[in-house]
Amino acid sequence: MADVIKLLPDHVANQIAAGEVVQRPASVVKELLENAIDASATEIKLIVKDAGKTLIQVIDNGVGMSATDARLSFERHATSKIASAEDLFQLQTKGFRGEALASIAAIAHVDMNTKRSDEEVGTYIHIEGGKVVDQEVNVMPKGTSIAVKNLFFNIPARRNFLKSNNVELRHIIDEFHRVALTHPDIHFELYNNGGEIFNLPSTNIRQRIVHIFGNKTNEKLVPVEEDTEVVKLSGFVFKPEFAKKTRGEQFFFVNNRFIKSSYLNHAISSAFEGLVKDQVHPSYFLYLAIDPSSIDINIHPTKTEIKFDDEHAIYAIMRSAVKHSLGQFNVAPILDFER
Ligand code: ADP
Ligand code: MG
Repeated sequence: MADVIKLLPDHVANQIAAGEVVQRPASVVKELLENAIDASATEIKLIVKDAGKTLIQVIDNGVGMSATDARLSFERHATSKIASAEDLFQLQTKGFRGEALASIAAIAHVDMNTKRSDEEVGTYIHIEGGKVVDQEVNVMPKGTSIAVKNLFFNIPARRNFLKSNNVELRHIIDEFHRVALTHPDIHFELYNNGGEIFNLPSTNIRQRIVHIFGNKTNEKLVPVEEDTEVVKLSGFVFKPEFAKKTRGEQFFFVNNRFIKSSYLNHAISSAFEGLVKDQVHPSYFLYLAIDPSSIDINIHPTKTEIKFDDEHAIYAIMRSAVKHSLGQFNVAPILDFER
């Protein structure tokens, strides 16, 4: 019998990988915004049409790419962010898998324009379904613009699975919030169908929160600050009286990455025990800085989960820091006559 195993062609492998990385337009938004941040951009503009179904474009004023790098950036496992396995334990960047652009290009039409500051001209590349269709020299200021059109054009099942524009835009805005909240120093803009949704000037965390969630937010914020040998915790919680029935503004960042952790969410809710009624959820914006060698972010392709060396210690630190802040700000317990 003949041998039967063959290596999949790159574009097939990329399409499979894309299935994990790109669930919906918001996933593309996350990857492109993170790349712009890793490129040290100070201004990042996100433009979408039809909630990202027809266009998702990110324009940044970051370091840009050479012509060769621009082409290589769409190869699988091509990255400038790590060079060895050891680097995985010292990650300072959001990206490191070298997978996002290859995945996105495998399932969309992509136009990239990019230029480095030390080069006279830039590069334009057009890719469809993972294949470079056109590459030219262009004239532009330094930075990068990546436009992703017709997402899932070659995966009808995925395209049909997309929700209404309202729902998809909601996901995009959620992703935009998460990224904008990690870098208040960066000027972010968001437009949908030509209309401005957000224009967030460079500022500090408190003001960024207020710009996003409205002026009324300012009076709701209680600062949280804790510095231990293991971690540095900072940020804000909402005063307990603003806790909501729906799980509203709950943001937890580790080394400037939005992370989902029901265990650590619990640490925060338990700090509110006795201050909020059952069934309501406190709002918070908490930033944990920790030695990158004591965490593992390489658990899932979307990098929203994390493994800590000592999760219990972090739970205890977060709980006590939040409790302490609530106490300091003289937050009185609620009088709950029903009990
Ligand atoms: P990763 O971010 O994990 O390295 P990506 O596929 O997202 O993988 O990007 C591949 C490479 O392309 C990056 O490592 C980076 O060198 C380059 N790149 C992507 N986006 C940008 C950008 N906006 N500005 C400059 N370089 C970029
Ligand atoms: Mg990336």
